[in-house]
Amino acid sequence: MPLPASQTAARVGLTVRYVSHGTPVRPDGSQAFPSVCRAAIVTEVDPTYVGRVGLNVQNPNGVFHYPLADGGCEWLPPADGGFPHPGGTFHHLDECEA
Ligand SMILES: [Zn+2]
Repeated sequence: MPLPASQTAARVGLTVRYVSHGTPVRPDGSQAFPSVCRAAIVTEVDPTYVGRVGLNVQNPNGVFHYPLADGGCEWLPPADGGFPHPGGTFHHLDECEA
């Protein structure tokens, strides 16, 4: 998948956005906790694919680590008709609508 030009700038120490998964959707379509963008810092970049990075995610109630050793986080484009970016992925600040 081709990456946007800004994606090539992914590097250690860069501030990006991580998309939380949110809680499961109820039958009525609501969610207790919807998917939201969180502040995150790139801790490592996959040397074979710049679209996969390790992240340190800054949630209001705690910090989560997603190292490359555990799969890291991947950049993915917004989904059609859904949340702007899929849960569990990252994107750059200039790609964020939050
Ligand atoms: Zn965002």
